[in-house]
Amino acid sequence: MGAPGQWQVAPDAGRPYGRACAHLDLLEEGRAVPAPPSAGCSGCLPRGLPWIRLRQCVTCGYVGCCDSSRGRHSYAHHVESGHPVAVSLAPDEDWAWCFHDEVFLVRAGRNAADRRPAGHGTDGRPPWE
Ligand SMILES: [Zn+2]
Ligand SMILES: [Zn+2]
Ligand SMILES: [Zn+2]
Repeated sequence: MGAPGQWQVAPDAGRPYGRACAHLDLLEEGRAVPAPPSAGCSGCLPRGLPWIRLRQCVTCGYVGCCDSSRGRHSYAHHVESGHPVAVSLAPDEDWAWCFHDEVFLVRAGRNAADRRPAGHGTDGRPPWE
């Protein structure tokens, strides 16, 4: 167990245990990423598209929409940039997703099940969807 506030890989329903993420240190620093603009998804805004939830890249601070949104700009940003990890910006969510390792990340000391967004990661679907 690490220090409180440290991020760790969380077991996720439907996914094999023991998967590692090599980007946790990135996430620690990521919380110091410039505060996201509250405006919304960088990809959707110029196009006038709606989005559902926002994710922020911890490498560069890019804000994009989730995979349930039409634009899927957070994922698109990962593909384009190779930046591996994004955190959820939803006020009721406190987790991150590593695109590279496909693991669900939570802060140590939190009950992952409690923090998991409703209906996400509980039925075998990745929390990203
Ligand atoms: Zn990773
Ligand atoms: Zn978008
Ligand atoms: Zn990025």
